[in-house]
Amino acid sequence: MKLLIATDMEGISGVVNWDQVRPSHSEYVRSRKIMTGDVNAVVEGALRGGADEVIVADGHNNGYNILLEELDPRVRLHTGNAAPLAMVQGAGDDIDAAMFVGYHGRAGHPLAVLSHTWDPHILNVWLNEFLVGESGINAAVCGYFGAPLLLVSGDQGLAEEVSALIPGVETVVVKYATSYFSAECLPLSESWERLRKGAEEALRRFKRGGGPQPFLLTSPMRVTIEFSLSSQADSAMKMPGAIRLDGRKVQAPASDALAAYNLFRTLVQLSSI
Ligand SMILES: [Zn+2]
Repeated sequence: MKLLIATDMEGISGVVNWDQVRPSHSEYVRSRKIMTGDVNAVVEGALRGGADEVIVADGHNNGYNILLEELDPRVRLHTGNAAPLAMVQGAGDDIDAAMFVGYHGRAGHPLAVLSHTWDPHILNVWLNEFLVGESGINAAVCGYFGAPLLLVSGDQGLAEEVSALIPGVETVVVKYATSYFSAECLPLSESWERLRKGAEEALRRFKRGGGPQPFLLTSPMRVTIEFSLSSQADSAMKMPGAIRLDGRKVQAPASDALAAYNLFRTLVQLSSI
C-alpha cells in the first residue's frame, strides 16, 4: 500500500500569519521545524496503520520547507519547484491513497486561517459545479489516479470544507480559527497525538475497505475561475475554448481531472498580476 502525503504550510500547527510561512522572515525557521513535526506524526500513524511505502510532497511556495534531516527516515521526500504535478507531485497510478497535511480553507472562507486558493487574486474556483479550494483541486487529481483522500489536517474551517466535499474523510484539527489571522492553537504534543491517531485510524479503515471514495468528477469537466480584477479575466481569455461568464469570471472545458488541473494552473499563470 503506497501513500502520498501532500503538504502545505498555512495549516500547520501554530501558524496564523503570513510572516510565519515566508522564507524571508525569522519566524519561518520555527514553522519549518513544526511542519516537519506535523508530517512526522502523520507518517508514524500511517505506518502503524499499515502503509508499506510513503512519499511526502513538499507543496508550499517553492517546495523546500520540510527539513529532510529531521524527517522520518522511512519515507522519501519530493522537494523543489515547478514539479509537473506541483502540490501533489508523486500522484500516479501506483498511489493507493492520499493525505493532505497543513492545508487551509478556500479563498473567501468565512472562518479559516490564511484562507486562499492558489493565488491571492483568485476569488473563487469551481470544478464543474463544486466550489473548491486547494484541497478539492488536489483531491480531484488524486481521484483521477484512483486514490481517495483519507485525511486532511489544518483548522476547523478546512475540516468543514473538506468534509462537505468528501464524506468520510478523516479531519485532524490542530488549531481553531478565530479570524483570518488568529487561532486557538493546541500544544504541539496534542496536535501530534491527534495527527498520529487520525492517520492510523484512517489507514486502518482504508485497509478494511472503508473510508472515502476517490473524489471523482464527471468528464468532460468545466473549470471556472472568478478573479479579483476584470483585467485578469481579459488575460485568461487567451485560453482556447474559454468563455467569459461575467466581468471577472472565465470558464474553460477540460477532458478530465488531470487536464482540468493543468488548465487551472495555466489560467492562473496567464492571469497573474
Ligand atoms: Zn501554502
